[in-house]
Amino acid sequence: MKETTHLSFEVFPPKKDSDFSSVYEVVTELAKLSPEYISVTYGAGGSQSKKTTQIASYIQNELNVPAVAHMTCVGSTKSGIAKLCEELKAEGVSNILALRGDRPKDMTDEQYNLREFTYSTDLIAELKKMGDFHIMAACYPEKHFEAFSKEADLKHMKEKQDLGAEHFITQLFFDNDFFYDFRERADKKGITAPIHAGIMPITSAKQIGTSISLSGSSVPKMLSDIIAKYADKPEDMFKAGIDYAIRQIRDLEDNGVYGVHIYTMNKPAIASEIVKAI
Ligand code: FAD
Repeated sequence: MKETTHLSFEVFPPKKDSDFSSVYEVVTELAKLSPEYISVTYGAGGSQSKKTTQIASYIQNELNVPAVAHMTCVGSTKSGIAKLCEELKAEGVSNILALRGDRPKDMTDEQYNLREFTYSTDLIAELKKMGDFHIMAACYPEKHFEAFSKEADLKHMKEKQDLGAEHFITQLFFDNDFFYDFRERADKKGITAPIHAGIMPITSAKQIGTSISLSGSSVPKMLSDIIAKYADKPEDMFKAGIDYAIRQIRDLEDNGVYGVHIYTMNKPAIASEIVKAI
């Protein structure tokens, strides 16, 4: 990997409290790869926010790697966000990825219509009042699925920057051309905050269905051919999926990407294979 490329990883908290130690092992392995930061996702609707804080604190304080705590606001109140900010401050975690999140399945229409935060822009504005946080936000090379147009989506991205987002992480994508086109349009729009390209190595045939339904990202023919070829050969699929991600990252580096953010799926072997190869 080029020394100038800013490398970072994403992990998610354990489903069960008893599984914390395995996530600690994951982040300990990832820390050995010297990332710029490790980000920790936030359960839909904020139900698991304590787990995000706990893992972010471990990364920051035990591993001495900057942690980024994801935070969604769709199911939150202003007082809930204030409390969470206090908890993060107490743990010395000052980086927040400010997100709207998706409507939780158990949220009624009334709760949704009366919610205190409508968009991530509302959360960013609120966080700016809460103290000295370094705020990051999400962006979408292929457009967010709700956005009316790419232009409208970009306009809201610019608003996020104007309100205080200092870095962006992209939704995962498999076709770099979407990223290059997006970066050019973002540049013209006056977006100067660095953009980290989100890369998810597809290492099993099953994973692709989940990834697409969550992200809406397009799958190029080359990747769908790989999946068709190796669907029944897990070891070959793992290797081919890593190779595809490596090719993607090499191409991004050749085209001057600022940073690469690897969605590790809590599998340090994936990240270390990529870092070794690059
Ligand atoms: P927003 O920025 O609010 O955008 C949502 C839509 O509204 C877009 O179409 C946008 O164009 C539009 N919009 C934005 N601002 C305005 C405005 N002021 N006025 C009108 N329209 C506006 N989900 C989780 O639950 N937990 C996680 O940890 C998590 N991590 C993620 C990390 C990354 C890097 C990414 C890319 C996504 C992540 N998500 C996570 C998923 C995310 O919550 C969803 O993609 C969600 O649908 C949108 O979140 P957002 O912050 O981009 O929303």
